[in-house]
Amino acid sequence: MQSITVLGSTGSIGVSTLDVLARHPQRYSVFALTARERIGELAQQCRRFAPRYAVVASEEGAQQLGELLAGAELPTEILWGVEGLCRVASDPAVDAVMAAIVGAAGLRPTLAAVEAGKKVLLANKESLVMAGPVFMRALSGSDAQLLPIDSEHNAIFQCLPQPSDSLESAGVEKILLTGSGGPFRARPAEGLHRVTPDEACAHPNWSMGRKISVDSATLMNKGLEFIEACLLFNARPEQIDVVVHPQSIVHSMVQYRDGSLLAQMGNPDMRTPIAHALAFPERIDSGVAALDLIARGRLDFEAPDMARFPCLRLAREAMNAGGSAPTALNAANEVAVDAFLGGRLAFTGIPAVIERVMKAAQSVELTGLDAVEAADRNARALAYEALGG
Ligand code: NAD
Ligand code: MG
Repeated sequence: MQSITVLGSTGSIGVSTLDVLARHPQRYSVFALTARERIGELAQQCRRFAPRYAVVASEEGAQQLGELLAGAELPTEILWGVEGLCRVASDPAVDAVMAAIVGAAGLRPTLAAVEAGKKVLLANKESLVMAGPVFMRALSGSDAQLLPIDSEHNAIFQCLPQPSDSLESAGVEKILLTGSGGPFRARPAEGLHRVTPDEACAHPNWSMGRKISVDSATLMNKGLEFIEACLLFNARPEQIDVVVHPQSIVHSMVQYRDGSLLAQMGNPDMRTPIAHALAFPERIDSGVAALDLIARGRLDFEAPDMARFPCLRLAREAMNAGGSAPTALNAANEVAVDAFLGGRLAFTGIPAVIERVMKAAQSVELTGLDAVEAADRNARALAYEALGG
């Protein structure tokens, strides 16, 4: 029996994770659930999974959850704040941690799980992108095992030999990172400044949280994933090509020296990578239907349009610049996406704000967590300035 902490349990990944866990009650038990909002939903999850802990963001949230669970006779202790998140991510009783908080807020608890040597199922790509070398040093200095949940990285992981020391020794020439191209793949550049948050969040193939949905529409999601892939697979930037694949059936590919191209395919449903990572190296049922290739009929591939979607170029530039450039990219993106979702910034303003921040931010070496958090704060301040206050 493995004991699991789900960070961000009320989100899209969190809910899919609980769906998979519920299919295997003899194999997994839930140690902790956490959420910032939707406390009512968190209360329902607590009633269903009876975790040892539930963690919310604020004292008021804790009080609200306490009232909702009054009389339920659960073993659940309620904690709040970042300390609570770090505690349930690193508790000795925990075997695996699903890191599914969105954005930079996930960094400390995810690192706490890494430092405590947990099996870490990484959905929260922002924490890896913003803290690159600090995150990877923490990983190599601990017994933690990092398994990618992002469908592309999970696919790449599945297409590589395990364990694999280096791409070179495995005979890998290239990683082909696929992406759907987002909801505006075929939209002319002139129409992009007018798109609304609801249009941007209506992804053709995946149902996801609002922040990553906007990232998918700007292609910043592919940009963050490009940096994520460089870090996870120790790849040089030129070893990774982005390929647009509108059907989201091929989740990514690995090209070998001998001409072989391995792909991992499946219906676009995050329960597949979640089940893969939870059970690795075994395989368990995820609830996802088998892929019917004949019903699908065709698979298309095309090159990404870097002119209409500058975010992919900005991410490549940040990775090439190194140091705190990816930290600044991620922070500026979070501020800009939030402004877009709040109706304070046009869709095309997102890359514009990020580009201004990238030009203004001083790149520093990421010596530790403090340096990461300082670079993050600095870039956020520059992004607010770029937004005009
Ligand atoms: P979401 O917005 O649906 O859920 C986010 C979760 O984090 C919620 O439970 C929320 O309460 C919690 N949260 C948000 N801000 C917080 C804060 N400041 N402190 C503590 N908790 C906080 O997001 P999602 O779509 O589930 O994505 C989660 C992560 O997984 C993101 O990093 C995203 O990039 C990544 N991811 C998601 C998908 C997907 O299909 N949704 C695919 C690949 C990667
Ligand atoms: Mg992805």
